[in-house]
Amino acid sequence: MDELEGGIRRVTLPLPTRPGHVHAYLLPGDDGWTLVDTGIGTPDAKETWAAELDQAGGRVATVFVTHFHPDHVGAAADLHELTGARVVQGALDYAQCELVWGNPAWSERLVDWFQLHGAPDGVTAELVGQSSVYRPFIRYQRDPILVEAGEHVDGWELIAAPGHADGQLCLLRDGVLVAADHLLGRITPTVGLWPASRADPLGDYLGALDRTIGLAPRIALPGHGEPIEDPVLRAQELQEHHRVRLEEAVAALTAEPQTGYELSFALFGADLPASGRRFAIAETLSHFERLVQEDAARRQEVDGAVTYTAA
Ligand SMILES: [Zn+2]
Repeated sequence: MDELEGGIRRVTLPLPTRPGHVHAYLLPGDDGWTLVDTGIGTPDAKETWAAELDQAGGRVATVFVTHFHPDHVGAAADLHELTGARVVQGALDYAQCELVWGNPAWSERLVDWFQLHGAPDGVTAELVGQSSVYRPFIRYQRDPILVEAGEHVDGWELIAAPGHADGQLCLLRDGVLVAADHLLGRITPTVGLWPASRADPLGDYLGALDRTIGLAPRIALPGHGEPIEDPVLRAQELQEHHRVRLEEAVAALTAEPQTGYELSFALFGADLPASGRRFAIAETLSHFERLVQEDAARRQEVDGAVTYTAA
């Protein structure tokens, strides 16, 4: 556990896949800690957390989940059982959490979706199999308290940060942004199009970065990696990164229709394991959907296949 400015504590939990760790934060408040994010719900999660909370001292007033990805939501039920604290999650994010993790038919939906975007049959099975890796370790809390951006939780303002996840919420107080995976220091947060996600996640993300620049937080505490000392500069860098990627995406288009699967090779290369290809396809699609919105690409859907061509 690390002590940060303003009495904030940082707990770093291991992850079996890249980036190898996730941070949770304990924010001090009048009624106890506000615990932001939970790590994955491994069999020893409760034990790990009991030791960490013992070290921190005091009670947990609230468990706040920024978004439904495994490393952030996975141990929410464990923490509720351990502490008795209320669990708070964004309303849209919880709806997507249930849709993905509470739904046995989700894998079939992913199969259809990868096929719609051109993945060959053999590849699709491998891509979908990858998504089940974390499933046993997702112990999200049913029926949490649902909140919206603009509301306050334990004195922190909730800031909408769509893009990496549609319903992701950050927390802001006194210039400190608890940023989850909205801003990361050395890696670029993934921004993908997934089944049942909003239509233009990259557009959402670029807009959310604009709002971050407007809010001008003094420091950002990310879900992975070290605190970001200049969040405005980092937001600008991420916008620039995606502008460059959008230009590369335009350059990959021709008059010949290409699927998201095919185009993912142009943007991310051929040399990716199934786990990487999954994200490459989703990221490729978020870029081409943004280009469609900007009239820089065209989308066609013919005979159960979505393709893109130059505008
Ligand atoms: Zn994360």
